[in-house]
Amino acid sequence: MRVAVIGAGVVGVSTAYFLARNGHQVSVIEQHGNVCEEASLGHAGLLGAAHLMPLAAPGMPAQILSHWFKSDSPVKLQPGFNVQRWRWLRSWMHECSVERMLVNKEKMQRLGKLGQQLLNDITQLHSLDFQQRDGLLQLFRNDKELNRVTPALAMLTQADIPFRQLDQAECHLLEPALNKHTPFIGGLYFPQDSQGNCALFTKQVKAIAQQADVDFAFFTRCERIDSTPHGVTLQLKQDELVKHQQFDAVVLSAGENSIPFFKSVGIHCRVVPVRTYSNTANIKNMEDSPRLSIIDDHAQVAITRMDKRIRVAGTLLAGSARHAEDERAWTFLRKIGTDWFPDAANYHTGSNWSGTHLMLPDNTPLIGQVGNKPVFVNCAQAEYGWSMSLGSAKIVADLISGKAPDISLDGLTLVA
Ligand SMILES: Cc1cc2nc3c(=O)[nH]c(=O)nc-3n(C[C@H](O)[C@H](O)[C@H](O)COP(=O)(O)OP(=O)(O)OC[C@H]3O[C@@H](n4cnc5c(N)ncnc54)[C@H](O)[C@@H]3O)c2cc1C
Repeated sequence: MRVAVIGAGVVGVSTAYFLARNGHQVSVIEQHGNVCEEASLGHAGLLGAAHLMPLAAPGMPAQILSHWFKSDSPVKLQPGFNVQRWRWLRSWMHECSVERMLVNKEKMQRLGKLGQQLLNDITQLHSLDFQQRDGLLQLFRNDKELNRVTPALAMLTQADIPFRQLDQAECHLLEPALNKHTPFIGGLYFPQDSQGNCALFTKQVKAIAQQADVDFAFFTRCERIDSTPHGVTLQLKQDELVKHQQFDAVVLSAGENSIPFFKSVGIHCRVVPVRTYSNTANIKNMEDSPRLSIIDDHAQVAITRMDKRIRVAGTLLAGSARHAEDERAWTFLRKIGTDWFPDAANYHTGSNWSGTHLMLPDNTPLIGQVGNKPVFVNCAQAEYGWSMSLGSAKIVADLISGKAPDISLDGLTLVA
């Protein structure tokens, strides 16, 4: 089949890779001049299944409300006057019970575990090197935060995902560079979770896909998707030239820009764009910088090593961001970096970045076929886009190919 993939972020490129492996003739349509120019570029790079947790969890609405008027809130949901965002917020609140959190965590974990297996296979098969580091330590500043995630730990055991609960001293032993003066109560260690450089990974997968004859049409913007009796017609714009191209099927994986296509292809769902931030600084003292990936649960911030650089990423802002909020987010990230690894880098000289991804109320991605049209969707992986991308990409490629997916799709497929 001739299949078009719209968007060359990590999700689109991974989808193209698996489609090519299934024997399809694939064209990737990308508005920019290379892969990973949007949300997949400067993110924290965390990978794995164990740390995946829905934002909707018991205690989260109260935590967000308590920060509502504070400038350093790690999560801000600002619906403003937008009715769609208020509807999303209502659905999100519904997902905040223990029962819903466990259901949603299980779905994310199922997808993350498949993604982890596929990542290991692909890494070995193609000898990929994308600055991988194993081991993730999630730190808790108080009992309330630890208690919030405790119900989900049994689920890790059930899924055979190893973890260890550590006290403060054990955390310091495992990660000796952690600041001795920042108070916290302990942590969870996930040895199989890891991190890497997503842009580096995606560029390598792109090169492999090109060897398998995947065509990348850069500087090409898809403006319309029309279903026809024989497939789909895409309206594409390259410079000022508009052309129409026929395909047997299309996969919509345009990240936050997927939303404008939803209505015309027939997707009805509650989704919000969420802006997230990162600061990346050169490491000045290797011995004072992290060996493991770190999550500060209280701040909802990740600290990772990208070769000789350290990246601090977090702060979720659903709604419209103003310049002042961007500045506050980066100030907050620099503070969290300094809290945990004060001598690793001069965070003030680091580069600031932000990206936008889509989030459904339950935090699971939007994947599958739209009705019985030759239109497939693979987007809204939210803040776990890389961890879930390979799993969702292989599932969508298998659905297009009429193959049974590797995992149960219970609760995961698109309800159009
Ligand atoms: C600060 C931050 C930290 C994060 N940390 C992590 C993490 O640690 N681990 C993790 O797994 N995830 C993380 N994420 C989430 C992750 O970055 C995203 O979920 C993921 O990158 C989404 O990938 P994507 O391919 O769907 O979207 P994108 O990377 O945004 O790609 C979409 C592509 O589609 C193209 N496009 C859009 N519209 C059109 C059109 N009409 N025509 C042609 N092309 C189009 C865009 O140019 C873009 O290249 C983080 C995100 C941020 C912002």
